[in-house]
Amino acid sequence: MKNSICVLGSTGSIGTQTLEVARKLKTKITALAANKNISLLENQIREFKPPFAAVYDENLAKKLKENIKDTDTKILSGMNGLCEVASLESSEMVVTAVSGMIGLKPTICAINAKKDIALANKETLVVGGEFVMQEAKKNGVSIFPVDSEHSAIFQCLQSCKDKEDLKKLILTASGGPFFGKTKDELKNVTIKDALNHPNWKMGAKITIDSATMMNKGLEIIEAMHLFDTPLDKIDVIIHPQSVVHSMIEYVDGCIIAQMGTPSMKAPIACAITYPHRQNSGIESLDFTKYSNLSFYKPDDETFEAINICRKAASLGGAATTVLNAANEEAVSLFLNEKIKFLEITELVKKALDNFKNPEILNPEDIPELGRKTREFISKQV
Ligand code: NDP
Ligand code: MG
Repeated sequence: MKNSICVLGSTGSIGTQTLEVARKLKTKITALAANKNISLLENQIREFKPPFAAVYDENLAKKLKENIKDTDTKILSGMNGLCEVASLESSEMVVTAVSGMIGLKPTICAINAKKDIALANKETLVVGGEFVMQEAKKNGVSIFPVDSEHSAIFQCLQSCKDKEDLKKLILTASGGPFFGKTKDELKNVTIKDALNHPNWKMGAKITIDSATMMNKGLEIIEAMHLFDTPLDKIDVIIHPQSVVHSMIEYVDGCIIAQMGTPSMKAPIACAITYPHRQNSGIESLDFTKYSNLSFYKPDDETFEAINICRKAASLGGAATTVLNAANEEAVSLFLNEKIKFLEITELVKKALDNFKNPEILNPEDIPELGRKTREFISKQV
């Protein structure tokens, strides 16, 4: 059980839910960090009174400093500010809930400062998984998954005494707003259609990733690193009700599933309270409301993203960096009405073809390869 946490990305969907959990569990907040939303950050500072807060945007950091000069919170800025708050002596855990691969550096800083991590920011593992897991091991740091599927697998694995007994990990996927649609039907879908997720209210980027199924592809890569499991032992099954959060299967055919009311507060609380459990305010699952739990094979022809991710993962860290950066840029172009929905996946494929066998010599090269990939994508439009 952690008593003090730093929350990176506190103004987002996971960040605000983390603060709800912290309020309920009475967890001390050592620091908060965000990018642009300084009015919400100000409210959070006034309520949780953290000694530090960081704002990535330098100008907004100055503005916030002025706005909260009557408080005792010190404002830091930029990437150095994020790394500084991620490394504070006073935190027992850092919750990484920023969106995108920008989260890589502060996560590495937190690990080097020997902080346990509650990891929501899956892009960090997609681009730097091998290095991040190595550093965590070297520093004796635990990474607790917050992504619901990975938290489910983490919980299921508590029953596993020998890794050799495992047959596979089974990630469930809701299928997103376009489950069952054909490519033809997806040609002219709007931003509003794509943001209309049936089960989860999340940030815009991950909601679009759920619509393209890229999210599930990224989650395969995340699982591969978190659980040190080969790609061919990670399956995906569509489960529209999002009640079974994920499963593991043993070689004897026995399956352990983790179930519950769909709420991100459960995996957040699980990471903070481990190895104990506490009531974080989630309703019990009413099984009688779910008399039909259904499961389907993913449609890999309409939604190619899962196989694209598998292919990139089999090539290694540089390919997954290109994959992730291309996707971040393409999603942003879609959200800015510059490209159509189906072009997101097409552009990611193009980037992977263009950057054949890119080399990453060390983790410091990841942001630069990301920048070049983004530039390539924006030039296609
Ligand atoms: P949101 O878009 O809702 O929030 C993103 C947060 O990151 C905001 O607080 C934003 O600040 C902050 N942020 C963005 N860029 C920077 C930066 N450069 N420096 C500091 N802070 C920054 O995203 P979500 O909460 O939905 O997702 C966060 C992460 O969790 C993602 O990696 C996502 O894949 C993962 N995740 C989310 C789930 C969910 O249910 N939402 C489920 C599973 C995983 P600001 O608001 O000030 O711009
Ligand atoms: Mg997930």
